Amino acid sequence: MSQLFSIFGDPVSHSRSPLMHNSVFKSCNYDACYTRTHLLDATKLKEQFFALQLSGANVTVPHKEAAFDACDEVRGFAKKVGVVNTLINENGKLIGYNTDADGFMYAISEFNTIKKILVIGAGGTAKALVSRFIEDDIEVSVLNRSASRLEYFKELGCDAFTWESFECAKYDLVVNTTSAGLKDANYPCPKEMLISILDATHYAADAIYGRLTPFLQLAKEKGITYKDGADMLLGQGVLANELFVNYTLKKEDIKVAMQKSFLL
Ligand code: NDP
Repeated sequence: MSQLFSIFGDPVSHSRSPLMHNSVFKSCNYDACYTRTHLLDATKLKEQFFALQLSGANVTVPHKEAAFDACDEVRGFAKKVGVVNTLINENGKLIGYNTDADGFMYAISEFNTIKKILVIGAGGTAKALVSRFIEDDIEVSVLNRSASRLEYFKELGCDAFTWESFECAKYDLVVNTTSAGLKDANYPCPKEMLISILDATHYAADAIYGRLTPFLQLAKEKGITYKDGADMLLGQGVLANELFVNYTLKKEDIKVAMQKSFLL
């Protein structure tokens, strides 16, 4: 029987995940289809997942922490961070995984040694990335608009700042994990602050893909080596697809087919 997959998010119309996964299913002759679901109320995630009779799904902004709560069981790195971006229907049970963090490590593997990172934002993506960086003994600071989400990072041993308390240091890499710039022209922090941050870093990376965000535009103007979230998207997508097809396809075939979808 043909399988159905979906991405849940709000907004979700920008997502390239349907194109990426359908490209794999088509080129590998895998009998499945991937769609998108605009989910406003995160508490309805599980109900919608089973109402659509999905075999699996991805979850994007702002529902990844709610997805963790919706699962019957959470496995691997997702368990550690409380953030789920991939769901699998395992015999009627909702199983949660996180493939974002390893996807991002793949994306920055081309940068030279990274020892100190500033993460802007403190949402689900930041939680996953920061925990993963710490696993690799990278020193991490976090900067967020509001204070309420910073406690988690302090407990991990990070310096964690609001815009009011921020003290700039030297960084190898600055990562924007906020949704500022996704659908608007906002900077992830006040412009003057961002200028001082970019003057103190070697590299800049954005989790947002498919557009030059104001954050990356400023990095570009300063001549800093930067990348958008496309490679992170590819990395997390390959790992999610392996889970969707239960490892019946070759990783390299998945990657090649997904990469092709980026040209569409
Ligand atoms: P969350 O909703 O969990 O967190 C959003 C964060 O952004 C919060 O820290 C919030 O701050 C901050 N924020 C939102 N708007 C602004 C603003 N105007 N100015 C400053 N800060 C702001 O989102 P996620 O962590 O799930 O996703 C974040 C981004 O990463 C999204 O754009 C998503 O598309 C992208 N992403 C890309 C991936 C890829 O594969 N390339 C994978 C995963 C995510 P506050 O706490 O003050 O509200």
